[in-house]
Amino acid sequence: MNTNREHLCDVLVIGSGAAGLSLALRVAERAKVIVLSKGPLSEGATYYAQGGIAAVFDEADSIESHVNDTNIAGAGLCEEDTVQFIAENAKECVQWLIDGGVPFDQVETEKDEAPRYHLTREGGHSHRRILHAADATGMAMQTTLQDNVQNHPNIEIFERYNALDLITEDKVGGSKDKVVGAIFGTATKSTLKRCALSLSCWQRAARQKCTSTPQTQMSLLATVLQWHGAQAAALPT
Ligand SMILES: Cc1cc2nc3c(=O)[nH]c(=O)nc-3n(C[C@H](O)[C@H](O)[C@H](O)COP(=O)(O)OP(=O)(O)OC[C@H]3O[C@@H](n4cnc5c(N)ncnc54)[C@H](O)[C@@H]3O)c2cc1C
Repeated sequence: MNTNREHLCDVLVIGSGAAGLSLALRVAERAKVIVLSKGPLSEGATYYAQGGIAAVFDEADSIESHVNDTNIAGAGLCEEDTVQFIAENAKECVQWLIDGGVPFDQVETEKDEAPRYHLTREGGHSHRRILHAADATGMAMQTTLQDNVQNHPNIEIFERYNALDLITEDKVGGSKDKVVGAIFGTATKSTLKRCALSLSCWQRAARQKCTSTPQTQMSLLATVLQWHGAQAAALPT
C-alpha cells in the first residue's frame, strides 16, 4: 500500500529548538508553517542550556563593550559583522522572548517601576549582561516557545519526524537549484530501507508555484516527488 502523504505549507522549519521555534512564531504571523523535530519537541541543546542569554540591558554597559568582549573571547575567529549584528539586536530579541512569556529572573522594583532583570556576569563578559531564569534558562525558553507554537493556529507540528533530504526545483522538472520541499519520515534507518513507500513527502514551500500550476501538472509533480522520496529512502546505509 502506498501511504506517501503530501503536506503543504508556505514555510518548512526543520528543528524545534530556540532557533526553529522563534523563526516559526515570527513567520507564522503571515504564513502557514510546518515545524519538524526529529525527536520529542523539546529534545535539543536549547532545553539543556543553563546559564543564560547575553544582551546589553544595563545602562552602564554598551554594545561596543559586548562586541569587544565577544571578539576577544573568539580569539580572532569571529566574523566581525556578525558579532556587531548580534550584539546590536540582542536586546530586541530578548525583549521579544520576555513579551512571549519567558520568565527571566527580575530584581525587586518599586510598585510603579518597569520590571528590571537580574543580570549575571559569565565567561568573557566584562559587564553583568546575562539574563537568566534561575539556572535553567534553556528549559524556560524552550517550554515557553513550545507553548506558543502549540497554540498558534498557523503552525502545524510534526514531532519525531526526521528530515531526510531537501527537494530542489531541478529534481522535479524545474531548472533552479532552489529548495521547494523536503522529504521526511518517522521510522529508523533500517525500517525506512524496508518500507520506502511509507515515507511522507512534503512539497513546495512556494505558494506562488502552487496557484499557478495546472491540476494535471500538480498530480505529476506529486508523483515525481513521491518517487524521489522512495529513492531517498533507499539511499541511507
Ligand atoms: C549543556 C548546555 C549548556 C548551554 N548553555 C548555554 C548558555 O548558558 N548560554 C547560551 O547562550 N548558550 C548555551 N548553550 C548553547 C545553546 O543551548 C545553543 O546554542 C542553542 O540552544 C542552539 O539552539 P538551536 O535551536 O540552534 O538548536 P537545538 O536547540 O539543538 O535544536 C535543534 C533542533 O533540530 C532538530 N533536528 C536536527 N536534525 C533534524 C532533522 N534531520 N530532522 C528534523 N529535526 C532535526 C532537533 O530535533 C532539534 O529540535 C548550551 C548548550 C548546552 C548543550
